Amino acid sequence: MWIDTHAHLDASEFDADRPAMIERARAAGVGQVVLPAVGCGNFDAVQALAHAHGLSYALGIHPILANSEPDDALERLRSALAARCDDPRLVAVGEIGLDLFLPGLDRARQDHLYSGQLKLAREFGLPVLLHSRRAVDAVLQQLRRIEVPGGIAHAFNGSEQQARSFIGLGFKLGFGGALTFERALQIRRLAAGLPAESLVLETDAPDIPPHWLYKTAGQRAAGEASRNEPAELPRIAAELARLRGTSLAELQRQTQANALAALPRLAGLVGAA
Ligand code: ZN
Repeated sequence: MWIDTHAHLDASEFDADRPAMIERARAAGVGQVVLPAVGCGNFDAVQALAHAHGLSYALGIHPILANSEPDDALERLRSALAARCDDPRLVAVGEIGLDLFLPGLDRARQDHLYSGQLKLAREFGLPVLLHSRRAVDAVLQQLRRIEVPGGIAHAFNGSEQQARSFIGLGFKLGFGGALTFERALQIRRLAAGLPAESLVLETDAPDIPPHWLYKTAGQRAAGEASRNEPAELPRIAAELARLRGTSLAELQRQTQANALAALPRLAGLVGAA
């Protein structure tokens, strides 16, 4: 089966057709989807959604919410993890990390939340789902300081050296719709050349649409929305298989094994499916 290691299926973009969208994913062969939380406000939502549809989830505080999360967010996350740590569908701490691209995010709060969540991941023995937009070196720096049980560098968009650093720390790298754009030379070069054992697939739905769903700024201004969804994963995978010169069947086998290695609790869910 295909595993989408990162999709925000609780997002409001799916309110109108969520069960049908999940059905489309299953019909396309996407047998498991990991739903990361973004803040205290959606811990219950990702858990409920994972349980309702046989999926999996992560709990964490996204760096883009650094300014707006309550001051006791880390304590709330700790309580939430403690209450759910025996839930087999809880597979990671995430989405956590740093975002140095969006302006106005308080860096000290981001650092505090990120390092605090790495410590929680270590405490609960869970891998992490990392967001590292324009912040790969800073994300790596904390990972070297606070050791966690691996995880995934989601939507990886760094250099080969940075990729090798993540791999050296026991991480997998998440690739998705971005690799379908011919002009994404660096991402395509990495996706083609990195060791097969280091890659996992993700959509980041509803974001990062592949090129066939992309809308120009003009189209978006005219009200045309571009919404990505897990059912697109096999077509994204086909593009990756083409870039790597491998068969789709082999890529499926390898990326499934990689996802299970990064998120060991998935093994119980995939085996039971
Ligand atoms: Zn995300």
